[in-house]
Amino acid sequence: MKKTWSPTADLLIKNVTVYTVDLTVEEIKKGKTDFTIIKNGYVASKDGKTIAVGSGLDESLVGVETVVIDGQENILIPGLIDSHMHAMFAGIELMNVNLKNASSKDEMIDLLKEKEAVTPKGEWIKGSEWNELVWDVKESPSKDDLDKVTAENPIVCSRLCHHVCVVNSKALELAGITKETPNPDGGIIGRDEDGNPNGLLYEPAAMGLVESIIPELTEDLRILGIEEMGKVLSAAGITSCIDANLAPDDMKAYLKAYNKGRLSYRANLMFYLDKATGDIPYHLNRIKEMPTVTGFGNEMIKINGIKILFDGIPATGTAAMRKPYEHIPETSGYTTITEEEMIEVAKLGAEYNWQIGVHSCGDKSADIAIQAFIEAYKVNKNDARHYIIHHAVMQSDQIPLMKAYNIPITVQPTINSLMGEQSIIGAEMAGRYMQYKTFIDGGVLVAGSTDCPVVDCNPFLGMHSAITRLSAADGVVWSPEQVLTPAQALIMWTKSSAYFSHDDDKMGSIEVGNLADYVLIDTPLLDIEPEKIRHTTVLKTILDGRIVYDALNTEV
Ligand SMILES: [Zn+2]
Repeated sequence: MKKTWSPTADLLIKNVTVYTVDLTVEEIKKGKTDFTIIKNGYVASKDGKTIAVGSGLDESLVGVETVVIDGQENILIPGLIDSHMHAMFAGIELMNVNLKNASSKDEMIDLLKEKEAVTPKGEWIKGSEWNELVWDVKESPSKDDLDKVTAENPIVCSRLCHHVCVVNSKALELAGITKETPNPDGGIIGRDEDGNPNGLLYEPAAMGLVESIIPELTEDLRILGIEEMGKVLSAAGITSCIDANLAPDDMKAYLKAYNKGRLSYRANLMFYLDKATGDIPYHLNRIKEMPTVTGFGNEMIKINGIKILFDGIPATGTAAMRKPYEHIPETSGYTTITEEEMIEVAKLGAEYNWQIGVHSCGDKSADIAIQAFIEAYKVNKNDARHYIIHHAVMQSDQIPLMKAYNIPITVQPTINSLMGEQSIIGAEMAGRYMQYKTFIDGGVLVAGSTDCPVVDCNPFLGMHSAITRLSAADGVVWSPEQVLTPAQALIMWTKSSAYFSHDDDKMGSIEVGNLADYVLIDTPLLDIEPEKIRHTTVLKTILDGRIVYDALNTEV
């Protein structure tokens, strides 16, 4: 039904405390955190935009068609933004065997056996997110363990970090991986003492040997993943995210999901520059020929940039470091492409107006990424906002350069809390691990994200981790001097994250003229003991002025 235009609001939320986060990114970089808080407030929206914010209630905004919500003295915050995750893949993973809660290797095997019982012979069995670090016996599974499940179905299970997978003998056989198979460039095939593959594959280059023979994802499955993840994100209060590592077919599925009304979050899509799909000359050619560019699209679905996976993770010794690891002294890690290649990609990307996001966990890979961005800005002095994803182990001498060249980082506090990586990488490196406050104090913009499905997309778990630095893996608070304030944590998941998708002029704060994305929560984040923050309940999520998640029914 077409509505006639009227001056009243489409949606009005009253009786709430509004945390507006009405700060500019420039103010945030200067350390400002005291945004406006409105007690006994209201917010009104029309045609997907905020048209009024204030205290009390402006009755003139309420017309016959206005949906009025009584917020029951709860807290209204801007729609939350996850600036680095893998939403579509997380949605597809929801359909895999979830191994995250397996408390032992035996339990992992049992869960896979349950799936095997209902899977036709010969079909792939996929599992997700095992993590031996939370098991009593901290020993990775091997092909021998998975062979106990079945010899007839190929099995592949990704580790929580998504940088390692384990497969069974059937999968090794189908992929043709034998004792004679050399390690692919940028990846490692795990082996026993005799040099036989043990089923573990490290980094995408090696994991790709198996993943490339798994039957292609269908478009229907992709769209279903996008739709199912939308429900999860809405329930978590997330209204916008950057979805990294996408191939052209993934982007097509996104467009179809959007056109069919099955996309319920603002999706900012990153093309994946993946060494496993081609060499650097191939990718340089792709950049030149890509029919889109950063910013192409609309407020619900648009192109973000190019994602480059530049190194691995510290725990496995695959992140590129300036010096060898304390816990694996024979290596200082490695980058997936050379320094020259990275700089070449960044310069060409800049020339073609692409924004570039680089996965860098090691200090050495960050050195190169920073240098590449500086070179990119020499080619094109635009507002590209090239950024580093993770920046797990930092060096303080990087901060002045990052500030000078405006290189922000998107970080995942939940990873530190759930995976306990800092406890195994040695004291020196742990002392430089995820040093958010040092970055913020140094004038570097730090945004919140989860890298979901690496960890749960729940932003309140991430905020809690950033505020407490409490490691759930070993109960230790580490680098306690790095704790952030609740206001800083909320800013990370709102205005700072909006910057990465060039949306900070219309998103990440509740202000007149901005998009009408809000989350009603039960917890006064700024005014409560930190422990309660991780138990925050989302009551309603509003996207574009429409309710997309509703745990209450308070329409009046
Ligand atoms: Zn990621």
